[in-house]
Amino acid sequence: MEKKTCLECGETFNGRADKKFCDDQCRNLFNNKNKSDSNNLMRRINNVLRKNRRILMELSPNGKAKIKYSQLAESGFNFSFHTHQYNTKKNTTYFFCYDYGYLKTEDDFIVIVKDNKES
Ligand SMILES: [Zn+2]
Repeated sequence: MEKKTCLECGETFNGRADKKFCDDQCRNLFNNKNKSDSNNLMRRINNVLRKNRRILMELSPNGKAKIKYSQLAESGFNFSFHTHQYNTKKNTTYFFCYDYGYLKTEDDFIVIVKDNKES
């Protein structure tokens, strides 16, 4: 037995080396909190990605469009999040939010494309 500090309540208790909590209640509290924290993070990011996709979709009714960069920036689009990226042979990079992708051109335009592949 050795002195341990509970990860949930911070109380010291006597326990085996692998014991992290003073009792079951503290263990459950700690584990549930951590689970919901990561769930909240994932939900928040998923919401951003869905919103990004919706904005791209609305700005390109035909699945293809060229708009001003400022128009996308002002729409509430979050440039920090995307699902994947695609590098073309011309060395430009499309950033995708699910099936909708965009490319920023040097003259401050945004080209929106829709990936029609079912993959
Ligand atoms: Zn405790």
